Amino acid sequence: MGTAIDPRGYDIDALRERVLPERAGERATSIPQLADADPELCAIALALPDGSVRSTSGGRTPFSIQSAVKPFLFALALADTDGRALERVGIEPTGEAFDAIKLESDTGRPPNPMVNAGAILTCALVQGGSPDARTDRILTGLSRFAGRRLDIDDAVARSEHLLGDRNHALAHLMRAEGTLAVSADDAVAVYASACAVLVDAETLAVMGATLALGGVNPVTGERVVSAEIARDTVAVMATCGVYDGSGRWMRAVGVPAKSSVSGAIVLSAPGSLGAALVSPPLDEQGTSVRGRIAAAELSAGLGLHVFG
Ligand code: GLU
Repeated sequence: MGTAIDPRGYDIDALRERVLPERAGERATSIPQLADADPELCAIALALPDGSVRSTSGGRTPFSIQSAVKPFLFALALADTDGRALERVGIEPTGEAFDAIKLESDTGRPPNPMVNAGAILTCALVQGGSPDARTDRILTGLSRFAGRRLDIDDAVARSEHLLGDRNHALAHLMRAEGTLAVSADDAVAVYASACAVLVDAETLAVMGATLALGGVNPVTGERVVSAEIARDTVAVMATCGVYDGSGRWMRAVGVPAKSSVSGAIVLSAPGSLGAALVSPPLDEQGTSVRGRIAAAELSAGLGLHVFG
C-alpha cells in the first residue's frame, strides 16, 4: 500500500488553511485545562520513514496527550508482559463512548485498550512495583517512541485524578471483577499521569510513525517495540481507535488512528508514515472536527487508505 504521492511534496500548510475556517465542535470540559485550550490551535505534522519531520504553524505547541497515549500504553504493556496483556484486555470495538462503564460480561476484562477501562488496565500491566515506578516506566517508554525526553504536566495529572470520577468507577469495577491487580486509586493515578504527558504535533507524528514502521523510531533509529507488537497495536487502533466513530473513520479516512479529548489525533499509516493533527474543538465522539476533516484529505491526497 505505497503512497500515491510523495509525502515530502505534500502541502500541509495549504491543508491547514483549508480546515482552519471550520467552526464546528466544542472543547472538552472534563478538566479546566482542556476547557481553556485555544480553540484556534490547528496543527498538522508528518513523520516519514527517512526520519524527516515537518509541521505547520502550531506544530511545536505543547498539549496533554490524553487518549492518544492509549496505543503506546498498550504496546508497552504487551512488551512488559511478553504479550500476556492480550489475556487481560479484549480487542473488540464497543460501539460506545470512551468512558462507558462496561466490561466484558463473561470475563470481567475491559473491552479493548483504546477505551478508558482498557487503558487504566494497561497502565497497571507495565513493569513497576509502585505507581511511581510504573509512571516512570511509561514516561521512559513514551520518550523512546517520541525520540525525546517527555514530561508530565503535573497540574493536568492532578485534575485528571481528582475529576475523573468515571475512571475511578471503572477501576473499582475492575477490582471487583478481579481484573485489576493494583488498588483502584493507584491505577487511576498512573493513568491520569499518562494522559497528562506533554507532546506537540511533531512529537506525536514521530510516535505514530514508530508504530507504523514496525516499532523502529525513524528519527533515532531505535527499535522501541517488536514488529509484532507494533502490528498488533496498529490493528487495534484500526478497529477501536476512534471509539464509537471507528467504523465511519475507517471508511472515510482508512488510516489506523487514535483520537483524544485534547483534540489530537495520531495516525499510523502502515509502512508509510506517522501523522498528527491537533485542534481542540471536538465532535460528539470526542474526535477533533478539523482533525477528522484534515485526516480524510491527507489520506486521499497521499493514497493512505489501507483499503484504497
Ligand atoms: N483523560 C481522558 C479521560 O480519561 C481521556 C479521554 C480521551 O482523550 O478520549 O477521560
